[in-house]
Amino acid sequence: MNLPLTQEQIMIRDMIRDFARSEIEPVAQDYNRRGEYPASLVKKLGELGLFGMMVPESYGGSAAGAVSYSLALQEIAFSCASIAVTLSVTNLVAEPMLAFATEEQKREFLFPLASGEHIGAFALTEPEAGSDPGGLSTSAVKKGGVYVLNGVKQFITNGEYAGVFVVIARTAPGKNGLSAFLVPRGAKGLSVGKEEDKMGLRASNTVEIVLDDCAVPEANMLGKPGMGLQIALNALDSGRIGIASQATGMIAACLHEAVSYAGERRQFGKPIIKHQTIQNMIADIAVEHEAAALLVWSAASLKDAKRPFTREASIAKLAATESLNRAAYRALQVFGGYGYIRDNKIERIYRDARVTTIYEGTSEIQRMIIARETEALLSR
Ligand SMILES: Cc1cc2nc3c(=O)[nH]c(=O)nc-3n(C[C@H](O)[C@H](O)[C@H](O)COP(=O)(O)OP(=O)(O)OC[C@H]3O[C@@H](n4cnc5c(N)ncnc54)[C@H](O)[C@@H]3O)c2cc1C
Repeated sequence: MNLPLTQEQIMIRDMIRDFARSEIEPVAQDYNRRGEYPASLVKKLGELGLFGMMVPESYGGSAAGAVSYSLALQEIAFSCASIAVTLSVTNLVAEPMLAFATEEQKREFLFPLASGEHIGAFALTEPEAGSDPGGLSTSAVKKGGVYVLNGVKQFITNGEYAGVFVVIARTAPGKNGLSAFLVPRGAKGLSVGKEEDKMGLRASNTVEIVLDDCAVPEANMLGKPGMGLQIALNALDSGRIGIASQATGMIAACLHEAVSYAGERRQFGKPIIKHQTIQNMIADIAVEHEAAALLVWSAASLKDAKRPFTREASIAKLAATESLNRAAYRALQVFGGYGYIRDNKIERIYRDARVTTIYEGTSEIQRMIIARETEALLSR
């Protein structure tokens, strides 16, 4: 992959690659098999500055920028997609704080997150509101100097371990009636409900968050009343660079697994990599990897240049995640029956891949965004 990277970006990528290959790769399979959240590894990644990569150093972050962030996430996802999503959501949570928080809020909530003290969670989805967050029903009612939150948030990544939640709740009717709140872990009335028993990403934490008369000081509102949907959608634009990066790193892992196995496995008297049909599958994975890496680099570069990137982030997310599912299918096919056995990493990648076309906006929702943004672009 021949990207025009700076020396600093190359250094960050190589440093995270070394860390992931030596510390995550050897244990990722076991954590995923046990369905265990890898707390000590995540803590180390926080110490390496990976929780607030877009956040200035004055607020505890590493200010590495979106391209470096994407490269780091790809390296982590190569070894463990679960850890990659844990990091991606934490960085997503930092974004709206950076853009909309007051100075006090940044000191209280952003600094500890970005400096690696704890991870974050983003609580938007509800049982009756997934693709259409404008229809969510968690309420936030102002009573004196507090907002009282009531409702249930569904599928919340990191929910059990997060030190801070960005919660989107309804303060008035309609799409413009949503507001965002910073809710610290341990807030009275916030509890962790059912943990989901997932098909993949088994070492990431996905839970229900229950808000039962959870009183949050008025000062914890992020932005102004009614800005909740805008704050959530802005955060998701950045989040999609994260998920596209996760998928790109996983395609690289598919390629690595397929090439190594095909070089060793012999059938009909020669390594299977010498059979043209296997070569075709490897070539197709390589092409999809190159394309995904370029698209995510393009979206991240726009973000670093402080130019609009909504359309490009959705294109990268759609392309990389759909490509990943094809790549995982092909790579598993290269393994034959052995790909279906849990001992092999490709079996885990195949399961982990599936959700990437669903969370942070399904492929159908990405197409809606891309069509809308393209129409706007062409009619300018
Ligand atoms: C492992 C995991 C982790 C997650 N983490 C988080 C998290 O941290 N925070 C959070 O808030 N949420 C999280 N989510 C929720 C995730 O973002 C939603 O699942 C996703 O947005 C889809 O919503 P839904 O599941 O309700 O599906 P639905 O919205 O019910 O969609 C069902 C189907 O209908 C399609 N559809 C819906 N509307 C349209 C339309 N207008 N046009 C065409 N097709 C449409 C969808 O594409 C999909 O195929 C997570 C989900 C999972 C599985």
